[in-house]
Amino acid sequence: MDLGIDGKVAVVVAGSRGLGFATAQALAAEGARLVVSARGEDALASAASSLRASGVEVVTVVADSADPDVPARLVSTAVEQFGGLDIVVANAGGPPPGRSLEVTETQLDAALNLNLRSSIRLIQSSVPVLRQRGWGRICCITSYSVVQPVPSLALSNTARVGLWAWAKTAAQDLASDRSGITLNLACPGPHATDRMRELGGSEVMGDPADFGKIVAFLCSQPAAFVNGAAVVVDGGATLAL
Ligand code: NAD
Repeated sequence: MDLGIDGKVAVVVAGSRGLGFATAQALAAEGARLVVSARGEDALASAASSLRASGVEVVTVVADSADPDVPARLVSTAVEQFGGLDIVVANAGGPPPGRSLEVTETQLDAALNLNLRSSIRLIQSSVPVLRQRGWGRICCITSYSVVQPVPSLALSNTARVGLWAWAKTAAQDLASDRSGITLNLACPGPHATDRMRELGGSEVMGDPADFGKIVAFLCSQPAAFVNGAAVVVDGGATLAL
């Protein structure tokens, strides 16, 4: 299947490892030019050189997604380096585990900043530029906890559901404006990444490379009518209908 994104310009946040990197790989395999960000310079440089092996241009931005100035920087990098922007993948590391009645104000602020506000900022910064082309694809990598909270991940559960509610609203706004822009969530269950290993792993885990291809599909031409969806990729782990 031709995803119709050859030559499109994509920003992938937190793309040096794990699901973000797998997404960048899948987009690169389809010919997308990439702006990839992460905090660690070395891991980002090594991710970029592996992505360039697909024959696409890759620009890196060393940045912490928690920093409120970063989204505007990523968008302006895409415009300066590649002349515009078509695809945005919002992502960040997950918050630490925490039981609901024990999480502190500071932890809650940090989780809401990194896993809710940073994505909203990125999308708000991107949409005016996407509108210029009358076409755009936005996908947030979140968690299957949007349909079923994960015990002991109170911080993650709270931030993810907030982002889902905001994104659902924004997707409808984008549709009613006939913007040509879609906004969806890709919601992973356990996948074999560093993050998952830190959390103790799981008996059954998905392959990050497969997950990346699902995000690439949500960012593709034929996914034009998929909007405001939370696509759960969890091997059937959740029981919600
Ligand atoms: P990971 O730890 O393997 O990779 C995270 C990537 O994000 C790395 O490139 C890291 O450098 C980057 N990063 C982390 N914090 C950052 C920050 N503040 N600013 C910029 N870059 C940052 O994680 P992953 O498994 O790929 O998970 C990605 C997202 O998906 C996380 O939010 C995670 O909670 C969520 N998730 C993952 C799983 C899973 O099984 N892997 C399941 C559910 C949800």
